[in-house]
Amino acid sequence: MDLGIAGKRALVCASSKGLGLGCARALAEAGADLVMNARGAEALEASAAAIRSEFGVAVDIVAADITDEVGRARVLEAAGAVDILVTNAGGPPPGMWPDWSRDDFLAALDANMLTPIALMQALLPGMIERGWGRVVNITSQSVKAPIAVLGLSNSARAGLTGFVAGTARQVAGDGVTINNLLPGIHATDRAIGLDGKVAADKGITMDEARAQRSATIPAGRYGTAAEFGAACAFLCSVHAGFIVGQNILLDGGAVNATL
Ligand code: NAP
Repeated sequence: MDLGIAGKRALVCASSKGLGLGCARALAEAGADLVMNARGAEALEASAAAIRSEFGVAVDIVAADITDEVGRARVLEAAGAVDILVTNAGGPPPGMWPDWSRDDFLAALDANMLTPIALMQALLPGMIERGWGRVVNITSQSVKAPIAVLGLSNSARAGLTGFVAGTARQVAGDGVTINNLLPGIHATDRAIGLDGKVAADKGITMDEARAQRSATIPAGRYGTAAEFGAACAFLCSVHAGFIVGQNILLDGGAVNATL
C-alpha cells in the first residue's frame, strides 16, 4: 500500500534504537524525510546512516535530551516545519508505590507527559496552518492496564492521554490527527532491562524471566520494533485521516479486555 507520505518531513524523537527507530525506519520506507533524535550521538549517527543508505531519504540528526528544555529547543530548531511528529522518550524506572518521591514524579511527568505536550504545542500550529499533520505519541499498555512496578509510567502517561483526548478533537477539523500507540512488551533494550529486574527479583535467569513474561502474552512472544513501526507509519499515512484521538494497543493480546 502506498502510504502517500513520500516527501513529507517527520520528526521522530528518541529514535536511535528500539520502538522509535522502528517508527523512523517505517516512515523512511514510505519515503518520508526524517529528523531523528537521541542523547547518544554514536548510535544515532549509525542508525541515520543505515536509513539513508537503505531508503534513500534525507535524515537530519540532533543529539540532545528531548526531555530537557534546551535540548528540545535544539531539536525543534533543526526540525523546522514538520508534517509528522512521533513523540517518544525513555520510560521511568521500575519501583513500588511507597518508594517514589515528589522529585521522582516530577521527572516522570516531565519526560512522559510534559515533553510530548510541549512538542505538540510547538508543532501543531504549523500543521494546522498547512492543513495537514500527523502526531503519534508512543505511550504504553500501562495506560489501559496498570503495571504494578511501573507506577510512574501509569501516572504520567495517563496525564498525556487526557491531554490528547481533548486536543485531538480540537485540531481534527484542520486535517491534523493525534493518536497514541500503546506498546505491550517488545524486544528492545528497555524490555531486556525489565527482564533483568524480574530475573534479579525472582533469582532466575534472563531466559527464564523472558519465558515467564512471554507466557503472559497470548501471541506467545514479544513484539518487534518493525511491527510497531509499521503501525505507526499507517497512522501517519493519508489513509488514517479519520482515526482521531485513539489509544491503540500493540500487545499481542496481553491486556485481557473486551474493549
Ligand atoms: P529503548 O530500546 O531503551 O530505546 C530508547 C531510545 O530512546 C534510544 O534511542 C534512546 O537513546 C532514546 N532516548 C531515551 N531517553 C531519551 C531522551 N531523554 N532524549 C532523547 N532520546 C532518548 O526503549 P523502547 O523499548 O524503544 O521504549 C520506548 C518507549 O516505549 C519508552 O518510553 C518505554 O517506556 C515505552 N514502552 C516500551 C515497551 C517495551 O516493551 N519496549 C513497553 C511499554 C512501553 P539514548 O539513550 O542515546 O538517548
